[in-house]
Amino acid sequence: MAAVKTDHPVFISVGSNLGGKLDNCLRGIAALTESAESSLLEASRFFRTSPVDYADQDWFVNAAVKIKTSLAPLVLLDKLVSIQQQMGRKADSVRFGPRVLDLDILLYDDWVIRTPRLTIPHPRMHKRAFVLQPICDINPSIIHPVLGQTVADLLSHLDDKDQRVIPLENQP
Ligand code: AMP
Repeated sequence: MAAVKTDHPVFISVGSNLGGKLDNCLRGIAALTESAESSLLEASRFFRTSPVDYADQDWFVNAAVKIKTSLAPLVLLDKLVSIQQQMGRKADSVRFGPRVLDLDILLYDDWVIRTPRLTIPHPRMHKRAFVLQPICDINPSIIHPVLGQTVADLLSHLDDKDQRVIPLENQP
């Protein structure tokens, strides 16, 4: 008998700071969710955000989406990498540097995964306002499965008050 594939709720972070930033994000979300395996459940607003880690670059557009997917975590990661490459992202680009499209898995159900290629929850999500604010837009009560705190609590206790996360005036 064939195994039944189960759908999982997954939060994905979407960002761009090159070219048509908002359009890049929208195209990335469409490529991810218009498939048999994954569909869009909810989306945050889009935000204009200041760069983190590598400050000498243009501001970003960021959002988060909640999808349901039957793809296993590593297969989903492969899908994200392939969408980013199709959108023109270079495999050898500077870490934390400018990018046409960045897609990261933030939360995969309530799973905790630590492999060389994939860490879930995303290892830096709890330090980043540009990730926490969009998840809070969707559901502030989501609990970080390792830290045991809600995303709203993590956001309100962030140390780095320099991070700017401002809703875009013209939401799509
Ligand atoms: P970045 O340049 O920040 O997009 O990093 C991409 C690399 O981070 C990928 O090649 C993944 O192997 C690795 N990675 C580890 N954990 C995650 C995650 N939760 N989501 C996406 N990429 C991840």
